[in-house]
Amino acid sequence: MTATGLLLDGSWTKRADSALHTVRSPYSGDAIAEIVTASSSDTDAALESAVAGAALWRNTPAHQRTAILLKAASIADERIESLAHTISSEMGKSIREARGEATRAGEIIRLSAFEGSQRYGESLPLDANLGTGFDKIGFTLPQPVGVVVAITPFNYPSLLVLHKVGPALAAGNAVVLKPALAAPLTASALAQCFLDAGLPPGVLSVLNGSGSEIGTQLVADPRVNKVSFTGSTRVGEMITKIAGIKKLSLELGASSPVIVTRHADLEQAAHSIALGGYVNAGQVCIAAQRIIVEESIREDFLAVLIPKVEAITLGDPTHEDTMVGTLINESEAIRVESAIQKAVADGARLLTGGERSGTLITPAIVDGVEGDHEFAQEELFGPAVSITSARDFAHAIELANSTKYGLGSGIFTHDQDESIRAMREIDSGVVHINWTPLWRADLMPYGGMKSSGIGKEGVRTTVHEMTEWKTVIMHSRV
Ligand code: NAD
Repeated sequence: MTATGLLLDGSWTKRADSALHTVRSPYSGDAIAEIVTASSSDTDAALESAVAGAALWRNTPAHQRTAILLKAASIADERIESLAHTISSEMGKSIREARGEATRAGEIIRLSAFEGSQRYGESLPLDANLGTGFDKIGFTLPQPVGVVVAITPFNYPSLLVLHKVGPALAAGNAVVLKPALAAPLTASALAQCFLDAGLPPGVLSVLNGSGSEIGTQLVADPRVNKVSFTGSTRVGEMITKIAGIKKLSLELGASSPVIVTRHADLEQAAHSIALGGYVNAGQVCIAAQRIIVEESIREDFLAVLIPKVEAITLGDPTHEDTMVGTLINESEAIRVESAIQKAVADGARLLTGGERSGTLITPAIVDGVEGDHEFAQEELFGPAVSITSARDFAHAIELANSTKYGLGSGIFTHDQDESIRAMREIDSGVVHINWTPLWRADLMPYGGMKSSGIGKEGVRTTVHEMTEWKTVIMHSRV
């Protein structure tokens, strides 16, 4: 097995003394690849090369950057099937879900290329300032931030890497990417698309390794101008403590609520929740986790939901008819199984699922969960939803807002007044009316409130956040 190296200065690098890490299939446990992990001096070398890369890339005209990105997008399109197999085999999601993710790769790069070419500054109406006449001109001048460190989680190894790398490169920055050690192969395959498209050395580096070692080194380094992190709230909080004065974007954890009111279309709600609670084995930051149902329709709603959840096919991710695959590893599966068992021991009822076999867990519905129980309050990141009864609409909103998180939310209602109240009163970065939070267009602003994060992604927004906006004032002599 040839080990995949680190991407340093435009070449895949493996030194004689490089440490290796074996990547295993979460389904079979078989070794599927070996990768080089970065030492502290490799990390230092990546940052040094990124400083040079940032200077070069910033002085490359946007039309040339766009051309390279568009070529990388076409290459990613040609490699959809191989990318999908890499995603599925390293992190256990079903091949059909992995194809959906891989298909978006080229699209995100293309969208980034476009948005990177649209960084308009604005002229300032300085004569509206008391005492200022027409002797000055003011405007904003966009510039790249410089060196961006991108740290990504395992659960969408293509999507979440490209939501950082695409906009960062399009805006003229150099990127040092540190993907999750649990799913590192997709990131290298994507980096190869950029290299094959002609991206100059130093503009993109890929470092594999432990977050607590090279991740902290990257975050703390003063050569870094921006840290763009997606991962758990726990690690996000640690990053805020060590980053120092740098731009920070944090896309963190959640326990997303979905309200089903008596004005809901129960068929639509159940269909959407049977997807939103279980896609990617529930390992989605915007998974539908807390289902808050008005008590008067609870029985009717569950009667529609249960058969849909029981119809989800679970198993070998490589099989075309598997809808949901594994969790990322057995210890995560045991954690999720224990959380379900604890909820039941504390008085909830398991209506279906919750059985574990290795890294697979059958899709579960846990009814009668109190809103303040840890099963609702903490992020589950597994294939189960909790059902909590609400007395009325106001109580449902109160429950929706009762956790420390605020990433996504959904409400099912065909009452306009309820929709309007929900979009105003639910504290989350994205609110879906008549769908669960598990829906995302790559162009839309996307990010959390409260402990779910700082800043927004979504390609246009990310290009903006990866740009410095200088204010320039030109003064006449008189
Ligand atoms: P994680 O926080 O364990 O790891 C994420 C990344 O951070 C990995 O690359 C890891 O190596 C690195 N890391 C770990 N410790 C670090 C440290 N001290 N300094 C710097 N980097 C460090 O998350 P995970 O288990 O890979 O992913 C699951 C989490 O990600 C969930 O909480 C989920 O909600 C969140 N997530 C959020 C979004 C979003 O858009 N808000 C999207 C996907 C996943």
